[in-house]
Amino acid sequence: MASYLSDHVLPLLIGRDARRIEDIWQYLYKGAYWRRGPVTMSAIAAVDTALWDIKAKSMNSPLYQLLGGSSRDGVMVYGHASGSDVEKTVEAFASFVKSGYKAVRAQSGIPGLSSTYGIGRGGVAYEPAEKDSPRENQWSTEHYLRFVPQLFARLRKEFGPEIHLLHDAHHRLTPIEAGRLGKELEPYHLFWLEDPTAAELQESFRLIRQHTTTPLAVGEVFNTIFDCQQLIQEQLIDYILSVHNFGIQEYMPHTPETDRVFPHAYSFKDGFMHPGDAPGLGVDIDEALAAKYPYQRAYLPINRKLDGTMHSW
Ligand code: MG
Repeated sequence: MASYLSDHVLPLLIGRDARRIEDIWQYLYKGAYWRRGPVTMSAIAAVDTALWDIKAKSMNSPLYQLLGGSSRDGVMVYGHASGSDVEKTVEAFASFVKSGYKAVRAQSGIPGLSSTYGIGRGGVAYEPAEKDSPRENQWSTEHYLRFVPQLFARLRKEFGPEIHLLHDAHHRLTPIEAGRLGKELEPYHLFWLEDPTAAELQESFRLIRQHTTTPLAVGEVFNTIFDCQQLIQEQLIDYILSVHNFGIQEYMPHTPETDRVFPHAYSFKDGFMHPGDAPGLGVDIDEALAAKYPYQRAYLPINRKLDGTMHSW
């Protein structure tokens, strides 16, 4: 994406009026004949976000004031609790509750599998990408489906009815397996079950929906609003876009180095975040400091079933 930006997109911006945000978005989107895809759309989004920041700063106003003003006092956020087993996950979950979070996502190591999605390593914050080459994870849907309802039974019992519980299946289930999981999680009243099945199978959400009342979230691998059309039209999901009545914001605090490179006005208190009142987005970049941390190649893990077949990560 960095090379798409510097080789292709940024030369097109030189000399353009930075105030014409919509025109520039359309120019970059419609000007790419083979449009969409994660690289193109992320690059356009980076330009769009920067232009909105510039416009709000030129008016000495926080950006949200230009977009209709605030419509709530704060944004509920959820943190990532994970552990290699149930006990360690309960421990991690408790530390989020103690910090004031009202909602926590829980992922846990699964008995019988040497590794799985969403588990931090060596006491550091969860970061799945690794240098050099992709790590290989193990996967077994049978082990997973047996285990997850036990995990959430324990969490609900331990932390009571009010805390919001979230879980991410990371696109690994077939629609009927996702229906079974949603149904078995119903007694624990999840806030949402995220990415239960492959996101390109939009019609599969109809089947999942018919089998469970557990709320469904999807969308992090979508690149445009056009990818969500069927899901919204048919009311097949509960959570997706950044909208006025949105539900919750994922919050993975950054490393101290990242916080220094991106000075910011946002703050966290009692489970909610506020963007602050600094002009623009409220997040800046210290380019001189950023230059001290050059790009390092890193890979997300890949995932194989116990018999060696490749599976979705
Ligand atoms: Mg996710």
